[in-house]
Amino acid sequence: MNDCDTIAAIITPSGDGGVGIIRISGPRAFIITDQIFKSYDRLSSNNREHGRFNYGKIINSNNEVIDHAIVLIMRKPHSFTGDNTSEIQMHGSIIVLKEVLSMILNLGARLAENGEFSKRAFINGKIDLTQAEAICDLISAKSKRAAQIAVNQLEGFLSNEINHIYNLFLEITANLETTIDFIEDELPDDVFTGIQKKFFECEKKLINLIETWDEGKMLRDGLTVSILGKPNAGKSTLFNVLLGFDRAIVSELKGTTRDTIEERYILNGYPIKLVDTAGLRDTDCLIEVEGIKRTEKALEKSDFIIYIIDASINIDPAEITRINNFPPNKYLVLLNKIDKGKIANIENSIDISLLDDKCCQIVKDELRKLIEKNLNLNFSNALVSERHKNLLEQAIKELNQVKNLFSLNIESQAVIICNHMATILNILGQITGKVYHDELLENIFSRFCIGK
Ligand code: GDP
Repeated sequence: MNDCDTIAAIITPSGDGGVGIIRISGPRAFIITDQIFKSYDRLSSNNREHGRFNYGKIINSNNEVIDHAIVLIMRKPHSFTGDNTSEIQMHGSIIVLKEVLSMILNLGARLAENGEFSKRAFINGKIDLTQAEAICDLISAKSKRAAQIAVNQLEGFLSNEINHIYNLFLEITANLETTIDFIEDELPDDVFTGIQKKFFECEKKLINLIETWDEGKMLRDGLTVSILGKPNAGKSTLFNVLLGFDRAIVSELKGTTRDTIEERYILNGYPIKLVDTAGLRDTDCLIEVEGIKRTEKALEKSDFIIYIIDASINIDPAEITRINNFPPNKYLVLLNKIDKGKIANIENSIDISLLDDKCCQIVKDELRKLIEKNLNLNFSNALVSERHKNLLEQAIKELNQVKNLFSLNIESQAVIICNHMATILNILGQITGKVYHDELLENIFSRFCIGK
């Protein structure tokens, strides 16, 4: 990448749309814009007000009108990238957008690489790495909750917390270094107790952050909810009722669902991966046996389970044993078909008939309550990035080494502890981008699309 070159890309999705936008960013952005855009006010980009839209026409080198457009000028450093930037809003024809982009490239701009606008924003100090990563997560968010986590990260909640911990570690290191400088002098006892106290405060903060990972990941990637039960209990009916359309085949014939079927859906803003499974029963049919194996696998991967029982017939004791082996507080038991009479009984179950529309809402409400019981919805910072989690775990490993040294004697180990502290600061710095190298940036920004 050349910091001095001017880059351009279509930043709206390809396909027909009302409006399509091309962004040009870099030192020659305004010169290039003026060569293709004739505004009605006849002002050049340099003489236009920052942040104001200007209406005009896109003209090619033969003076032919290519499209009508609105151009937004953003002057360095007050643009997303931090460089001079213009955004050309045209009609969303991909043919015309490509033609205008090619005119821009012929005038000396280079096609932006994946994530290059965001990378420049990072290098110019407009955003840190966690915020750049949040942009990617926000764009690909599959639910309101996932989008909220990404927005919080974009707002800087995670960076603020990491920076706060970073500064505390910096303070501890500075205090320790002072003790090394005055090693010959008699130091008050509380110097080392103070250092330890601060250190444990930091450790607690890091652990609290790591503990948000499971939940953050669930909210980003979706919570897996598997529907289990014996054949004919009503699993596929429930699957279809929850999704709101007929995805699985519902039949009176036992063993109709022979493979697991998955569909994504949103329940009260929670992204759910709903899995319909093959009915659990003893069978000699090889295909059904394979289906049951897959059910067992789905069970292992589930965050939550809905176990459904046909309540109009006697309950199989094996089912009770199975239910008792489920992780506590992670499952619902539904007694279905009560319209046919209720014979089966089991503690803490919910009576339903899937033929009754009202029951669908009951199941949704119970599932939502179960999910919320398991989630801590209060935190504004949930870790969703594997990169952040791995770095925090590395930091914790270093912390553990420091703790071992504390138990020996801080005073005599101060130099070694300071070395570990430097490593911890380096690790935390990589999360926000205080510390970075080309490979790290390449890994992060190559995941972005062109135009981001
Ligand atoms: P699965 O094998 O567990 O997936 O069961 P299905 O969803 O295919 O349902 C088996 C049969 O039970 C189908 O004929 C459904 O229409 C029927 N069924 C499902 N729920 C109810 C219910 O609440 N009441 C009655 N009477 N029949 C139901």
